[in-house]
Amino acid sequence: MPRHVTDATHQMVALESPRSAGPITGADEPPVTALRTRIMRSVRSQNSTPELRVRRALHRAGFRYRLHVARLPGTPDIVFAKRRVVIFVHGCFWHRHSGCRYASNPKTRVEFWTAKFNRNVRRDSENKAALEAAGWRVIAIWECDVKSDRFLAPLLEALRHRVHAGL
Ligand SMILES: [Zn+2]
Repeated sequence: MPRHVTDATHQMVALESPRSAGPITGADEPPVTALRTRIMRSVRSQNSTPELRVRRALHRAGFRYRLHVARLPGTPDIVFAKRRVVIFVHGCFWHRHSGCRYASNPKTRVEFWTAKFNRNVRRDSENKAALEAAGWRVIAIWECDVKSDRFLAPLLEALRHRVHAGL
């Protein structure tokens, strides 16, 4: 009898293991959800919060600009036509900010993500090269720098320099 109980207990344990694996598998869900959130964010990326912060800061500093100019390579977020300066506000995750904690690597479908990230980075560099070849200065601002406001002083400096240089 006790032996039977023991067996039953073991069996219960054995049965529960795969079942409790359910929630464990489910624990993989949050990253997927986070990823989905990022995807949703990227869909709205043209007016992302970091970009809006950059635009507001520039506007406050007296600069006027055009937005999302589709005829230029990569459809730059912010365009100073007379100064021939374009600004991209890059999400650290999608554009692979080197060494940045926001540029985390998904743990699943690694090949898929690697290929996607490589395409993004290659496209960024091709757009930059095409713009520079056409006489534009290309400034990339990273999302994490916008969060900490580190972007502003160097950006204003670069824009003012562009005016003083008569370009
Ligand atoms: Zn970053």
